[in-house]
Amino acid sequence: MHQDGLHVEGVALADVAARFGTPCYVYSRAALTAAYAAYRAALQAHGMADRSLICYAVKANSNLAILNVFARLGAGFDIVSGGELARVLAAGGAAEKVVFSGVGKSRAEMRAALEAGIHCFNVESASELGRLSEVAGSVGRRAPVSLRVNPDVDPKTHPYISTGLKNAKFGVAFDDAFELYRRAASLPHIAVKGIDCHIGSQLLDPAPAAEATDKVLALVDRLAAAGIRLEHIDLGGGMGIQYRADEPAPAASAYLAPMLEKLAARRERLMFEPGRSLVGNAGLLLTRVDVLKPGAEKHFAVVDAAMNDLMRPALYDAWHEIVRVMRSGIPRDGADDTTDAAMAYEIVGPICESGDFLGHDRHLALNEGDLLAVQSAGAYGMSMASNYNSRPRAAEVMIDGDAVHLIRRREEIPQLFALESMLP
Ligand SMILES: *Cc1c(COP(=O)(O)O)cnc(C)c1O
Repeated sequence: MHQDGLHVEGVALADVAARFGTPCYVYSRAALTAAYAAYRAALQAHGMADRSLICYAVKANSNLAILNVFARLGAGFDIVSGGELARVLAAGGAAEKVVFSGVGKSRAEMRAALEAGIHCFNVESASELGRLSEVAGSVGRRAPVSLRVNPDVDPKTHPYISTGLKNAKFGVAFDDAFELYRRAASLPHIAVKGIDCHIGSQLLDPAPAAEATDKVLALVDRLAAAGIRLEHIDLGGGMGIQYRADEPAPAASAYLAPMLEKLAARRERLMFEPGRSLVGNAGLLLTRVDVLKPGAEKHFAVVDAAMNDLMRPALYDAWHEIVRVMRSGIPRDGADDTTDAAMAYEIVGPICESGDFLGHDRHLALNEGDLLAVQSAGAYGMSMASNYNSRPRAAEVMIDGDAVHLIRRREEIPQLFALESMLP
């Protein structure tokens, strides 16, 4: 740690807080770039970089500056709404590198994506396939499609982020996929392009994704034997990241190797849809301690960030490392977080919900006014933020070397109800 506390690249977080206030999301361009490069390097090591496309899953963090960093690196994008399509195009992303996922695409969203000329729709039901064919016919186009198949493998992650089990709402049941492909191939306004599979998120064990790959490849071969030849195989996202020291995540090369070994000898193009693993560890949430409130059994540190800013702890009971930005300002000389000056705190926000916490039982030496960094908050942080309790959403900043760029201004209070009106 520097004298002036924690840094991101060449910039002190204390300076960021002084300039832009808190709560504030802070991202590192170098970390975003390194995460993308690790994915590319894994593909390169298996000789597959030239026939693969990494489609960043926009919902993990959809700020235009982040999308633009990935667009400049050559990434494609995995979108789940018309709003995300508009963001990708506004950020300089190429429509022909966009795949459109999601169980409930509206006709208007389908039309917008067809008109933009996206690479592929990942179709998740028979009904959607029929509707897409109709919409494509009405605008005089053929819709490029993959079926998202549900391989029924257990990704061994949180139930809210498991998506590939038989009872999930996602994808086409594996046993129905063959027949649905035959139907797709017969529809005049559908062009069958590929297959897609995404079994869950925050996966730390590569085995479930490798097992899903086997199932997908067997189906691809069965389809080819029936005359339906697929151009690409999309293996989704889901690679986990390290949130806590005692739960290490595999490197991209190690996580992807079992999958890539199965794919090396094939001719299809490969696609991936990583979200969390490209942005999660490239961002943190800066927050200030507002009130220290000692209790009979628990001590509370009320901070100025809350569940509306970072919903993952409340929603998934997710664990984020929380550290002090400065070493100075501790009650006793030389004390640090491992000494007696530290106490076990509930780190909570000011929102009127008992579920509004950022961390339980954190051993920290705190004063009111201290700055904290909530780590690994780059994914599913700001993109899930809301205005609950009429709280303006946080500012977002990206660090690039010594430069600090404000990439989203802090919301202002009049904006909170600018779209509302009273009865006459
Ligand atoms: C959310 C999602 C992703 C990204 O998942 P991560 O765990 O963030 O990598 C990829 N594909 C689809 C279809 C998704 O819904």
